[in-house]
Amino acid sequence: MEISQVVQNIKPSATIAAATKAKELKAQGVDVLEFTLGEPDFTTPAHICQAAKDAMDAGHTHYTPAGGLIDVRQAVADFYEQTHGLKYAAKEIVLSNGAKHSIHNALMALCNPGDEVIIPAPFWVSYSDLVELTGAKPVILSTKEEDNFCLQPEDFESAITDKTKLIMLNSPCNPTGTSYPPDLLHQLARIATDRGVHILSDEIYERLIYEGSEFKSIATFGDDIRANTITVNGVSKAYAMTGWRIGWTLSTPEVAKAMEKLQSQETSCPSSISQLAAKAAVTGPQECVDEMLTAFVERRKYVLERLNAIPDISFPTPGGAFYAFINVSRYFGKSLQNGVTVDNSTDFCTALLENAHVALVTGDAFGAPGFVRLSFATDLKTIEAGLDAFEGFLKG
Ligand code: PMP
Ligand code: GLU
Repeated sequence: MEISQVVQNIKPSATIAAATKAKELKAQGVDVLEFTLGEPDFTTPAHICQAAKDAMDAGHTHYTPAGGLIDVRQAVADFYEQTHGLKYAAKEIVLSNGAKHSIHNALMALCNPGDEVIIPAPFWVSYSDLVELTGAKPVILSTKEEDNFCLQPEDFESAITDKTKLIMLNSPCNPTGTSYPPDLLHQLARIATDRGVHILSDEIYERLIYEGSEFKSIATFGDDIRANTITVNGVSKAYAMTGWRIGWTLSTPEVAKAMEKLQSQETSCPSSISQLAAKAAVTGPQECVDEMLTAFVERRKYVLERLNAIPDISFPTPGGAFYAFINVSRYFGKSLQNGVTVDNSTDFCTALLENAHVALVTGDAFGAPGFVRLSFATDLKTIEAGLDAFEGFLKG
């Protein structure tokens, strides 16, 4: 059978591919130090698991409305009102099978073939492929390390054409950890809205913010900006619920209806049990989020101290999320561990895995040649051993 052109044209998710490669090596008995997936290592808090068990026992084992159970959507709406002062009707919220699926829905609902979608780079690996699936064209705009990888308003303005449909913003950002200053985010949102460019704001890391950074949801910047924005979020990162697959969008009634229609044909609905677990996550005690954040603060501090002591690398200080994004390009062409030399990030990651058994993700997949991504969503012991091995690899 011949595979369709559209599927031939997309790449497999590089983060998932890197994790699979590391796991294969582990299965062969190699002691791999793994920093690939952006996935909290904590187990889902007990009260959330209990809510899922209760849901099953109570018979919530059937299809739900396509956009999710109305009380769960209401719980998400209440959560936004409490945390951001944003009032959304339950019907403006669509629950999906993870934030990745929410992004797919949003792009499918808005993009036509030939439209342009602006994506500031470095960007999360799935963005450009999800845009391509719609037939629209990803327009990748590079940002600079010296600007802390923040898109500058003038660069955004000059990339807008009459075909620009949407800009994808992601603060805090995967892979850089960049948390945009609210003023700058507001400026970008203002430009987009004034120029008729819709905004997809991926806020999946909003609860993972470090000292010195501030999070503002783009929809809070004003009624016209809110009406022009689809906000994406979910429970994967904040509540260590990656496997439950629940994400959501906040948008307008028309866009929500369109996404619900799409979802009714594609997946029927997200898992009923996971929806009720997500409801427990947003309505239940929030201390679990703070406890996990405390662990991430400690890991981040350790990672930054260790990286600061390594010569000839550079990296932005992550204001949010759980990634260190490291410029290793000054090591290209030099003799590394076991005398290997590399001249790009992808080969760097392969050589690092083969020689030092450390698994990172290549920056090439994030539109950032010369960089590698380290996810510190893992325990300190592994991080310590991983950084020892990484340092040893660079020393040669
Ligand atoms: N957006 C970003 C920036 C991410 O890093 C991820 C990774 N999980 C997602 C969306 C998707 O999250 P989910 O697990 O909810 O699909
Ligand atoms: N978003 C995470 C990452 O970047 C999980 C993997 C994925 O969904 O691509 O590693």
